[in-house]
Amino acid sequence: METLLKPSLYATDGTLQGGRCTCGHVFFPMQGHGCEVCGRHGADLQPMVLKGRGKLLSSTIVHLHIDKARTAPFTIGKIALADGPVVRTLLVDPTREIEPGTAMVTALVPAGAGENGQTILDLRFTPET
Ligand SMILES: [Zn+2]
Repeated sequence: METLLKPSLYATDGTLQGGRCTCGHVFFPMQGHGCEVCGRHGADLQPMVLKGRGKLLSSTIVHLHIDKARTAPFTIGKIALADGPVVRTLLVDPTREIEPGTAMVTALVPAGAGENGQTILDLRFTPET
């Protein structure tokens, strides 16, 4: 049995839980506080499932983190999603250099075990094969 670490942000099929404003602006994650483009809020902001794919804009390998509980190295990528929003996220491979412009897709990876021994999955991005 598997459980998602952050089910409010993504689904088991690798799609992302974003939102769309009536003005057309697409954002991630879903929120109802206000559109950063036009200021509309409430019912003008509706959930939208975003494709789990995009292009890598940049990435960096973190070799030492101030929080000793975070295991380094790990790689953070800035990704322009196919649906518009730009996200900063962890990449699957902690040490691999990836060219900007590379097509990226989501991947669910094991991130520990839950209370009942179930595998907890978290979302990362990896180059599309
Ligand atoms: Zn708007």
